[in-house]
Amino acid sequence: MREFTFFLPTKIVFGRDVVRKAGEGLPLGKKALIVTGRSSARKSGALDDVLSVLKGEYVIFDRVENNPTGENCLEGAELAKKENCDYIIAIGGGSPLDAAKAMAVLAVNDKRPIELYQGWEHRALPIAAIPTTAGTGSEVTPYAVLTIHEEETKKGLGGPDLFPAVAYLDPKYTASLSREVTVDTAVDALSHLVEGYLSNRATSASDLTALQGIAVWGTAIEALRTGELTMEAREDLLLASMLGGVTIAQTGTTFVHALGYPLTYFHGYPHGRANGVFMASYLEYNHGYAPERVDTVLELLGLPSLEAFRELMDELLAEGAYQIEVSEEQIRAYAEKAAKTRNAAYSRGTPSADELTKILKDNIL
Ligand code: NAP
Ligand code: FE
Repeated sequence: MREFTFFLPTKIVFGRDVVRKAGEGLPLGKKALIVTGRSSARKSGALDDVLSVLKGEYVIFDRVENNPTGENCLEGAELAKKENCDYIIAIGGGSPLDAAKAMAVLAVNDKRPIELYQGWEHRALPIAAIPTTAGTGSEVTPYAVLTIHEEETKKGLGGPDLFPAVAYLDPKYTASLSREVTVDTAVDALSHLVEGYLSNRATSASDLTALQGIAVWGTAIEALRTGELTMEAREDLLLASMLGGVTIAQTGTTFVHALGYPLTYFHGYPHGRANGVFMASYLEYNHGYAPERVDTVLELLGLPSLEAFRELMDELLAEGAYQIEVSEEQIRAYAEKAAKTRNAAYSRGTPSADELTKILKDNIL
């Protein structure tokens, strides 16, 4: 007997010029806190579109860092409080979108960021999310991933009120991305789709979005390989990224993400690239538990074998490859921490610290 819940309270508006077309429907309250990174909102044209239709009051917080910390989010929340903002418009990659979610909670709850992991009382401010990368799917997830220095890692917090109220997805905003960031973020989207499909929390409903997303991602492989990123390819990648977000909103991510976080925290890898390092081994590992699912992933991507998948990841990530110094002790510590995460518990076979040590060694030594 199948049993599942599929929860997605975010209204998704996808297409060309959707922000301009939203017009008077854009404001979710009286005064907006517009949250962005340092330059992507302007570079992508998304901020101009928002300001061209936003009639109400607003104040801009444009200091979100990559891989934002709690302190960074607190800064934005203080501004929201001081300016009496009652909703948020978040523009950017996963970093500004996630930071905006934490700000939405901190603006109405008197808490330190680290305390958010134990929950909060007052409902977060409503958010309109406008992604400028095609990767995290944060515009449709209830998660915010923050850098937590106390624990030397990145950690996701979540709550049903962190789903943005509305997501506006326009592929034209991703046209200003470099090839490298396009590839890194696309690999993040693929990891959400594949991890969601192979998670032990996958359901009949999450499978629908995962399978559709993997197939759509597959159609963009040639564009990612050649760097000829047409608007059609960018549209496919944004759609796949959103479907990945919808998928992990139901399933969560698995051990690929748990292994990726230390590469980002300690070695500066961009998030998607850090996941990409482990994706081939992840499929190989899962072949032992769900061979038919792994075969389906390969088939949808149009790849003949697990080796072909590894070659694809190597090829895509070759440009800007990282050389890192890491000791056996560090690897063991990363594996032990990862084995204790929820991501590991959501993985088929619940990998042990020994198994994760091997996967880390195989891929980064
Ligand atoms: P990001 O950190 O938001 O952005 C990476 C870089 O790309 C930044 O320098 C950014 O510039 C730039 N950029 C963004 N859009 C651009 C555009 N259209 N044109 C030119 N440059 C652009 O990268 P991301 O991969 O999207 O997000 C990663 C974060 O999301 C990580 O913290 C990760 O852990 C998190 N994440 C969250 C979820 C979730 O469910 N919530 C899922 C997976 C990952 P600016 O500095 O100017 O913004
Ligand atoms: Fe991710």
